[in-house]
Amino acid sequence: MTEAWGPDDDEPRRHHGPVRVRVPAKINLHLGVGPLRDDGFHELNTVYHAISLFDELTARPGDTLTLTMEGEGAGTLALDESNLIMRAARALAARTRVPAYARLHLRKSIPLAGGLAGGSADAAATLIACDLLWGTGLTREELAEVGAELGSDVPFLLHGGTALGTGHGEAVSPILARPTTWHWVLAIADGGLSTPEVYRKLDDLRAGSWPPKALSGPDELMAALRQRDPEVLGAALGNDLQAAALALRPELADVLKCGSEAGAVAGLVSGSGPTCVFLATDAAHAARVAAGLNSAGVCREAVTARGPMPGARVT
Ligand code: ATP
Repeated sequence: MTEAWGPDDDEPRRHHGPVRVRVPAKINLHLGVGPLRDDGFHELNTVYHAISLFDELTARPGDTLTLTMEGEGAGTLALDESNLIMRAARALAARTRVPAYARLHLRKSIPLAGGLAGGSADAAATLIACDLLWGTGLTREELAEVGAELGSDVPFLLHGGTALGTGHGEAVSPILARPTTWHWVLAIADGGLSTPEVYRKLDDLRAGSWPPKALSGPDELMAALRQRDPEVLGAALGNDLQAAALALRPELADVLKCGSEAGAVAGLVSGSGPTCVFLATDAAHAARVAAGLNSAGVCREAVTARGPMPGARVT
């Protein structure tokens, strides 16, 4: 239900609410990390893939800006101005010169600091929800510009699907492949890993090696996606952050080994970890791999997921 924001019909329309937005987690099918740049970022070449593990953000009209939450990380995650949801709402309000008034509620399923970009996902959901609630009417490209200031993965999570990320991940272009559903298993760890710490560890591991490691391109992965064969895709998956995540959390090697013994086509650390992700041939195979990981007790929980999924969308 909408109503006129102003008397003029050309003006944006705001929403009475509630506006409910569902947003997926991401994994990286390829994550090539170049050397550290002068601006403190690493040049990335990545293939993002949105999967069916979702957070849900609800926005209602309010007299001020408030945030509540339930689910993963409730009681741990700060709900103050440091939260990416609050920062996203403030950034959109500043850009569009509207008062940042909303009651926001997060139902969180994406584990915290898991290498699945849950915080960026929540920021993307907030931009979509508040844009509709406030009637600010930004295009997806304009929302992506606001999002890129909040986190490198936010533009992709507005977009979803499978996409190439360059720059420090914020420059996103869709990969046009014939529609194929891929089946995944996520081994969710106890506790998280700090993304900046994983990058610092990678820099340490690379220090002294000459010539500096070149940025690995996604060509093999892109070709594998077109073949629609899990074995071919499995052989092309890769993550330059994996060695650093394993150095910080050596027990992840057991998780990867266990997934392989449970019959996964391939396995790797998701982004900066510690979540490990495994490729399966179909839904039944994914369920068997998840059961194998769960019965081995090497992770907090193994769950199945499908991809690609759309980005942040109003439900
Ligand atoms: P990335 O790879 O993008 O760094 P990640 O999946 O490893 O992401 P996130 O769950 O996005 O990690 O969170 C990283 C940190 O961001 C958290 O430890 C937390 O301090 C902070 N944060 C701020 N807002 C949020 C949010 N809404 N959800 C999760 N984390 C948030």
